[in-house]
Amino acid sequence: MDFSLTKEQKDIKKAAAEFARGEFKPELAQECELTHRFPREIYKKAGELGFIGLDYPEDVGGGDLGVMENVLVIEEFCKADSGMGMAIHLAYLPAKILKIFGTPEQHRKFLSPLVKGDWVSAVSFTEPDHGSDLTRMDTTLREQDDGFVMNGTKVFTTNGGYADFFIVLAQEDPEAGPGKGMTTIIVERDSSSWLGGKMEINEIPDKMGLRMTSSSELVFQDLKISKENILGKRERGLLNVLDFLDESRIEIGAQALGNCEGAFLKALNHAREREQFKRPIIDFQAIGHKLARMWSRLQTLKWITYYGAWLCDNRPQKISGTIPLFTSIVKHHVPETAKSIIDDAITVFGGYGYFLDQEVERRYRDNRIIEMYEGTVEVQLNNIVRILKKLNLGFIDSELL
Ligand SMILES: Cc1cc2nc3c(=O)[nH]c(=O)nc-3n(C[C@H](O)[C@H](O)[C@H](O)COP(=O)(O)OP(=O)(O)OC[C@H]3O[C@@H](n4cnc5c(N)ncnc54)[C@H](O)[C@@H]3O)c2cc1C
Repeated sequence: MDFSLTKEQKDIKKAAAEFARGEFKPELAQECELTHRFPREIYKKAGELGFIGLDYPEDVGGGDLGVMENVLVIEEFCKADSGMGMAIHLAYLPAKILKIFGTPEQHRKFLSPLVKGDWVSAVSFTEPDHGSDLTRMDTTLREQDDGFVMNGTKVFTTNGGYADFFIVLAQEDPEAGPGKGMTTIIVERDSSSWLGGKMEINEIPDKMGLRMTSSSELVFQDLKISKENILGKRERGLLNVLDFLDESRIEIGAQALGNCEGAFLKALNHAREREQFKRPIIDFQAIGHKLARMWSRLQTLKWITYYGAWLCDNRPQKISGTIPLFTSIVKHHVPETAKSIIDDAITVFGGYGYFLDQEVERRYRDNRIIEMYEGTVEVQLNNIVRILKKLNLGFIDSELL
């Protein structure tokens, strides 16, 4: 058993930490938070320095590395600033589905500008009547000689206000059974790529956190898309989404890991410096023990996230069918526990923790969405139970558990 990172992984982690410390300035973060602005200039710099698309093919400018390297970058970005780190990660994460299922032409067209930090991506799965339940879409897709015509409404699309392309899940076969007959298609923002119809994008205002991103409703009215924009095999749409979620849920977990590490470090520093009753507050056992517990929980989160990433990258044959058993642990346990660690950090800060200035309350608000998007905590627990019900008990003895 070897818990060490490779030299390349250590270098990537260090470079990401230095970049974030240098660029994610507190004044800039507050400005983006208060004006709800996506820090596009920082995203561009991250692309220029190679932090975007570390797991994308080299021929489009990617690093040909894996989920583990992405996790290390996301962890450091979110450790430095939850809002900036999450906004930047969420701008390139959606394109992962295109990396997995796209043709070489689609890779060249969409991933090349994304890797440079010029383009932003989005996924539009959720609909007003289909959130946790993606087994059927109300958005329809109909083949029509030279293209596909789409009608319907999507909600909560992250980056809707500025994404250059959207990967949309739509129902192609209306007669198909649950989970079947859906197709993924790429919709470009540039209306000159449309063959007819229209797409309306409406901002959904006033969210609790994640305020450096846009959240949008998309309305497709007879929007006609070129056949070249079909992503992956037709009518395999939900399976494409599930394969994407296997990897993306680990990276989403890394957001929560970084968020609570950042909160912990701030709380530790505060507890050593803040004096009450003529003693640093870390010397009060109530505060000292709280920090000790925060540290212990944080370490468990780090190692389960790294292990999930390692499994995704290595896919040991023995457990290839049970990867979701681990991705779902990362997706529910890391943000849930991070929430409680960040809450403890607010306690350590006392009244100061309640204000934006100290940034721990923002971490709490930003972190809260990680329990919801890409499948809620309850959906992850359902996934785990579904696999546990059928699991060969011999597996539980395996060295992988
Ligand atoms: C800020 C933000 C950004 C988002 N970004 C995107 C995006 O970019 N693209 C995208 O497609 N979507 C996005 N989403 C949507 C997100 O993935 C959904 O909100 C989420 O999957 C839950 O769906 P819902 O909101 O419809 O809740 P519902 O599905 O209505 O669930 C409501 C509650 O019931 C529970 N529940 C539902 N079904 C079950 C069940 N079978 N067992 C137990 N409990 C259950 C849920 O866990 C939840 O607590 C975003 C959402 C937000 C808030």
